[in-house]
Amino acid sequence: MLEVAIIGGGPAGLSAGLYATRGGLKDVIMFEKGMPGGQITTSSELENYPGVAEVKSGFDFMAPWQEQCFRFGLKHEMAEVIRIKKKLDFFVIVLSDGKEIEAKSVIVATGGSPKRSNVKGEDTYWGKGVSSCATCDGFFYKNKEVAVLGGGDTAIEESIYLAKICSKVTIIHRRNEFRAAPITVQRAKSLSNIEFLTPYGIEEICGDNSGVTGLKLKNLENNATKEINIAGIFMLIGYNVNNAVLMQEDGTSLCAMNEYGQAIVNLKMETNIPGLFVAGDLRQDAPKQVVCAASDGATAALGAIEFVEHHK
Ligand SMILES: Cc1cc2nc3c(=O)[nH]c(=O)nc-3n(C[C@H](O)[C@H](O)[C@H](O)COP(=O)(O)OP(=O)(O)OC[C@H]3O[C@@H](n4cnc5c(N)ncnc54)[C@H](O)[C@@H]3O)c2cc1C
Repeated sequence: MLEVAIIGGGPAGLSAGLYATRGGLKDVIMFEKGMPGGQITTSSELENYPGVAEVKSGFDFMAPWQEQCFRFGLKHEMAEVIRIKKKLDFFVIVLSDGKEIEAKSVIVATGGSPKRSNVKGEDTYWGKGVSSCATCDGFFYKNKEVAVLGGGDTAIEESIYLAKICSKVTIIHRRNEFRAAPITVQRAKSLSNIEFLTPYGIEEICGDNSGVTGLKLKNLENNATKEINIAGIFMLIGYNVNNAVLMQEDGTSLCAMNEYGQAIVNLKMETNIPGLFVAGDLRQDAPKQVVCAASDGATAALGAIEFVEHHK
């Protein structure tokens, strides 16, 4: 039986693997369905990880993480986990090929992915002016004009964040009403460099070799079209969490989750199920940053070591 099974090999999973193995656990396997590294490997530029002064691609940035973990004995199995089940005082990890592996403790770090709008030009310019994270990419648009698509709390809060960096932020939303808290919308409306365009949808994201240059928009009430020039567009229309591994055959979830399907954890990354930890973007209130996911992974591993020690 494994001492710890880690599900997912992004920043949270790899950091959990490093701390679990370097902390003395011998039987630790990280199950990752693809190449380790996580969603950041799709980013062309990462410049906000403390202590790393050089701007790197996400792929180059993550490469040494695996190497460092494997040096301390972390094993990597390239496999997709279908489900985690609880049996008596241990867990069963079910893989897509039907194989079942038992573990005393489990750290789930399967992350998530931002929702895409599928508008024309989104794929072409993703990472070249189209972003889903203002904290990550806002600085690249210092003193430039940007747009935000969305009407929820994240969209409006991130617009307020961007308004401090960018010369102008245009919020595009398909309805005249917002899902975001009224007080947040009010704060955004009080800022002179935020403009609201409602009820508008994006028809096309336009650009050239340098990246995004503008948007073709349509008023959804009267079909009037409009073009605006911007250097970046932030698609903040929601986030899908990869929580499928926690779902049981009867449709219930293995541990408590909030309304968004994110796992509820305490400051030790413990769920309400002893021995089951969740780290990184899958947990509630995750800041969705590499440094935070890495910190969660380390915290969860320290908790798992303690759990395994107490349940010998
Ligand atoms: C384009 C882009 C740019 C970004 N830029 C920045 C930035 O500049 N700075 C910053 O700090 N953050 C940035 N982020 C956010 C950052 O990438 C995430 O916050 C971070 O990767 C979360 O780490 P994680 O380990 O929780 O999850 P993830 O990175 O999502 O890793 C989860 C891993 O689990 C694996 N997995 C999922 N399900 C299964 C399964 N069933 N079985 C086996 N494996 C599974 C996945 O393949 C994946 O490798 C960016 C994100 C994106 C998409």
